[in-house]
Amino acid sequence: MNEVKTPKKPLLYYYSIVLLLLILFNFLAMPRLAERQVKEVDYGTFMTMAENKEIGQVEVQESENRIVFTNKDNTVVYKTGMMPDPDLTSRLYASGAQFEGEIIEQADPLVSVLVSWILPIVIFVVLGNYLTKRMMKNAGGPNSMMFGMGKSNAKIYVKSSEGIKFSDVAGEDEAKENLAEIVEYLHDPSKYREIGASMPKGILLVGPPGTGKTMLAKAVAGEANVPFFSMSGSEFVEMFVGMGASKVRDLFKQAKEKAPCIVFIDEIDAIGKKRDGQLGGNDEREQTLNQLLTEMDGFEDNTGVIILAATNRPESLDPALTRPGRFDRRVPVELPDLAGREAILRVHAKKIKVSDDVDWNKIARMASGASGAELANIVNEAALRAVRDGRRFATQADLEESIEVVIAGYQKKNAILTDKEKVIVAYHEIGHALVAALQTHSAPVQKITIVPRTSGALGYTMQVDEGNHYLMSQEELENKIATLTGGRAAEELIFKSASTGASNDIEQATKLARAMITRYGMSKEFDMVAMETVTNQYLGGDTSLACSAETQTQIDRQVVDLVKTQHQKALQILTDNRKKLDELAKYLYEKETITGDEFMKILNQQ
Ligand code: ADP
Repeated sequence: MNEVKTPKKPLLYYYSIVLLLLILFNFLAMPRLAERQVKEVDYGTFMTMAENKEIGQVEVQESENRIVFTNKDNTVVYKTGMMPDPDLTSRLYASGAQFEGEIIEQADPLVSVLVSWILPIVIFVVLGNYLTKRMMKNAGGPNSMMFGMGKSNAKIYVKSSEGIKFSDVAGEDEAKENLAEIVEYLHDPSKYREIGASMPKGILLVGPPGTGKTMLAKAVAGEANVPFFSMSGSEFVEMFVGMGASKVRDLFKQAKEKAPCIVFIDEIDAIGKKRDGQLGGNDEREQTLNQLLTEMDGFEDNTGVIILAATNRPESLDPALTRPGRFDRRVPVELPDLAGREAILRVHAKKIKVSDDVDWNKIARMASGASGAELANIVNEAALRAVRDGRRFATQADLEESIEVVIAGYQKKNAILTDKEKVIVAYHEIGHALVAALQTHSAPVQKITIVPRTSGALGYTMQVDEGNHYLMSQEELENKIATLTGGRAAEELIFKSASTGASNDIEQATKLARAMITRYGMSKEFDMVAMETVTNQYLGGDTSLACSAETQTQIDRQVVDLVKTQHQKALQILTDNRKKLDELAKYLYEKETITGDEFMKILNQQ
């Protein structure tokens, strides 16, 4: 879509430039213009000229301590310093010099004031006027305030044929279905008006970052072929109290003029946070929110202005914002499932050249948990890699490598692991893979590598889910914990000591075990009582405990027990398969990267 931005530079900027020029002009140029060029000579020359009767006019400027004189034809002006000379006047008389008139004409004071001050001010005002008019024209009306203050700065996407359409947003079928109704309404509001139905004024798109919320909002505007005003919540909040509210007013005013249209407010939690009434609260933010609420109440139903807002922290929004009549419809935009991921990859693959034999389904399976933005990034990374290697198109290998880049960072080319470290890392990774593979329910291993990555990982085991997983059984979760402890278990078994390499595994295993006990009701003691609630569903899933101190102690003990049991299970699996562990670790140590197929082949060899 064509984006029309209002000019950013305030008028103040132009005014200060003109003022600066004015000052420079007065200090540097004016003195030179005012004074005629004068030749400086010594007193001896003056005396000789006087004696030779070569002086035309003369002026003794005692205050300046100088004598200014001309030659006989008055064509050249000379000046010299004064000397204590009592006979000066008589000598000058004798030379026939004339004493009348000013030789260096002081510019007429009126003219000088005119030239140095009035004229520039006139230029300054005319220029200022011209610029103001031009800016107003761009800003869309004479009522926009000076210096851009209190203006909404909303980016306006004008109708255009190549705008984003629903077909550009892959997956997210439920969200699209939900929004299709809005498109329908924007096409023909009268249909709804006739029957008396009113469209929701505000629609809240909620979901994790990078799942295409902004894209969906733009697609609604593209499909409905209406103007699209876009602004981020944080742009409203200004340093001065009241500025944000005035921006909200301006935005809605513009929107009403352009109706039917869509107003999109990204990251609405920046202004829409709960007003908690604490001392020292953010006045500016609260005023902005109040203004937004007032504006939403203010316009009647069916005016044709639809407000879409996106957030990844719906739980932090002020309840007043989500009540019916304001943002009363909520459209979840979740992370894509397997089919969604494949579709997104294919959409983005259209923008680059790829070889025909790429298995998109496999890439989508490998990238489980990736958001739309990450998938777009993966495709782009693959194209960059192809260019780096001097190829004309991206291949399956490029895509697979770029998944790893996005997940684990680039390969560290010159990271030097000592031999001992390399052996430990090899055993660690095979430990994970072996425990995963030998527990029937674990996902198959895709790839194991011990090439260090820029993220700090010294090696990793990539597992691939075969399909979508919406539910996980207790057994599957336990197996997952066992797999996570498998790396450390292998180190203990072989080297009889622990290393720091397992810190991330420990973190993940603990998190899983904790969730099983406090949230999934998978412990005998607590039955189906929630001990923790998720407070931040889309951003990392922070939780807050809701139980007594004694219960917390019990939870901690149970978490330890659970992880311990799984750790023992992993140790047992590896002890039972010690031969395979050695064989596979040696193979990995030599090859550094092995595929899941190679791994399974060795594992299944008798
Ligand atoms: P959000 O607003 O949810 O944080 P965006 O809409 O800004 O995410 O998406 C960021 C980028 O990710 C988009 O520009 C697009 O390239 C890609 N993307 C995300 N979701 C999708 C999708 N469903 N289909 C195609 N591309 C997507």
